[in-house]
Amino acid sequence: MRKIEHIGIAVKDIESSNDLFKSLFGKAHYKVEDVESEGVKTSFFKCGPNKIELLQATNKDSPIAKFIEKKGEGIHHIAFAVDNIEKEIKRLTKEGFQMIHKVPKKGADNKLIAFLHPKSTNGVLVELCQEIED
Ligand code: ZN
Repeated sequence: MRKIEHIGIAVKDIESSNDLFKSLFGKAHYKVEDVESEGVKTSFFKCGPNKIELLQATNKDSPIAKFIEKKGEGIHHIAFAVDNIEKEIKRLTKEGFQMIHKVPKKGADNKLIAFLHPKSTNGVLVELCQEIED
């Protein structure tokens, strides 16, 4: 893994959270994106070299809706940049980690993504992401 790509934060209302994080960082989000397959609406902020993703559920079956129901708003996942996501999935599976996605899928921000099950990572939901080259 190369570095932390972004940190994902689950929010109830992305509009008001966009205002809140704008005040926090002194800079507005640079992008919003719906990821229909995940049932989420996302927005991205830059804070120096780091990236924060806000996620709001767009339906009640969304993983974000379930997360907020169980734990409330807050840090949802940490995403790590990888060069070759398929290779990394294979390596981690071999190491005994439990993958939620064994096959990478298209995520927000032009990325191929795959999540590891928090059961196998001390309760931390880990996302792998690889930039899609076009
Ligand atoms: Zn993410």
